Amino acid sequence: MLCRHCDLVQEITTLQAGEEACCSRCNHTLDARHVQPILRPVLYAATALFMLLLANLFPFVSMFVAGDRHQMSFFDTSSVLFQQHHQWLALLIWLLIQAIPAFCMMAIIYLKLGMLYKLPFRVWVARVLYMLKPWSMVDIFLMGLIISFVKLVADAEISLGASFWAFCIFCLLHLRVFQVIDQRELWSKISPAPSLSLNTTVGMGGLEQGLKLCQVCTGMVLLQHKNCTRCHSTVYPRQRGSIQNTIALLVAAIILYIPANLLPIMITVSFGDRIESTIISGLIIMWQDGAYPVAIIILIASVIVPVAKILVLLWLCYLTRISKAGRQRYSTQVYRVVDWIGRWSMVDVLVVAIMAALVRFDLLMTVYPGVGVIVFAAVVILTMLAALSFDPRLLWDARPVYEGKASDR
Ligand SMILES: [Zn+2]
Ligand SMILES: [Zn+2]
Repeated sequence: MLCRHCDLVQEITTLQAGEEACCSRCNHTLDARHVQPILRPVLYAATALFMLLLANLFPFVSMFVAGDRHQMSFFDTSSVLFQQHHQWLALLIWLLIQAIPAFCMMAIIYLKLGMLYKLPFRVWVARVLYMLKPWSMVDIFLMGLIISFVKLVADAEISLGASFWAFCIFCLLHLRVFQVIDQRELWSKISPAPSLSLNTTVGMGGLEQGLKLCQVCTGMVLLQHKNCTRCHSTVYPRQRGSIQNTIALLVAAIILYIPANLLPIMITVSFGDRIESTIISGLIIMWQDGAYPVAIIILIASVIVPVAKILVLLWLCYLTRISKAGRQRYSTQVYRVVDWIGRWSMVDVLVVAIMAALVRFDLLMTVYPGVGVIVFAAVVILTMLAALSFDPRLLWDARPVYEGKASDR
């Protein structure tokens, strides 16, 4: 098989349940076999869906301020934004915490049961599942909830409803279900990997042997073939225009990061007073209030991570252009960290959505989202897309032969 991150051809023996195979060069997980590969994911995903249903049925969180009580449901995080004419933000939040996670769970049940009953459209469902997986942000929403509670607990009393606990269980099961499925195993059960009429040499790069990897289904495809025979997607030796796209998305993110910091992300109206807070001013207020852990988390998530991610990705783009001096393993690991951590920047956007849904006490205190939050969400989405369009195999190529070659377009 070919490694997705370093393009090395490797041979692995048939794995037993509970075993995992990692790339000998870059340490990327190549393949894994799980115990009870059908029953466990189906049970976890079905229970998760049931918990998501419960999370939408009962009170989520209640807040008491000066004898006044406001109750929020899980769906309010989107619906309140919609009522306040932030339709795009409402749609984004709904997709990130309800629609995409629910789709992923249903897709996993469908694909796993599909193994037994040979259900149709499994190829398309699996393609969409792995495309949407990074955009399912229930874990980040849970972190957003904790931050919001810490912010509010000094001024108000918070009580957690039944739906909150259902959501916590949903969150854990959602994380767990992705741990007990393996992309390669899933695809191998949908249809056998494309067969190759070519002798491959283990321990050499795939490209130099006329092989390319299907990024969608992890199958090996001959260089002269345009499409993967298993998942029908068009396969390119390296991601098309990887460096150009990554840099373009990063430049757009840098440009938007300036208004994201200057515009207010949250507006608090209290007794007719209107306080607009930006990311930085919100941070300073939290620090002055003594909420140090929350201030540090927000500082890391909203300031350090986006800036570091942009700089690191630019540095990685630069590394693909210079001679490699044994730094590939290290730089591939850096890429994996940046790719994983980037989505956590969305936490500030979710905090604003939670605060807007929860803090609604008419004259006393009401929170509204500011324009800055939409711009900041765009920055996070752009940096996530930049990381997805970066092809780490370019770090390993002797020369970036496939970058900017007209025949690949
Ligand atoms: Zn590798
Ligand atoms: Zn494929």
